[in-house]
This record gives sequence, structure tokens and C-alpha cells, in this order.
Amino acid sequence: MRVPEQIAKFLRGKKPNRYCDDCIAKELALGSGRNRHMANNTTLAFEQCPKEFLRLQGICDDCREDKQVIRAV
Ligand SMILES: [Zn+2]
Repeated sequence: MRVPEQIAKFLRGKKPNRYCDDCIAKELALGSGRNRHMANNTTLAFEQCPKEFLRLQGICDDCREDKQVIRAV
């Protein structure tokens, strides 16, 4: 599965939880869990699809940090 498909499936499965790029990379083991850039490229693209994904400043449901997070709509 391609990375955007993996991330879309993950976010839809966890809805309405929201996650930061670091935790998405960790959960999906992108680049062995360290490659937040792979997650970031995808969540930036998802930001262009507001009917499907919402990217906002908020608390990540995994690490509990206040940062840019994304969730499925
Ligand atoms: Zn997080």
C-alpha cells in the first residue's frame, strides 16, 4: 500500500482521533517510524481535501502534545 493510502486508512480507522505527523510516522512505521517527512508530505496534501481530512492546531491523541494534527472528517 502506498503511504497516502496507509495514512488515510489509519486516520479513518481511528476517527475522530487526531494525530501529529510524528505519531503517524511512528504508528505506520514509515521509514522505521522515524520519517515524519513522509507523513508530513501526505498530511499537507490531505489538507487540500477538507471534505475528507481536517488539519488543525490541537492536541495529538497519541503523544498529547499541542501541535499540527490531522483527523478524518
Ligand atoms: Zn503525536
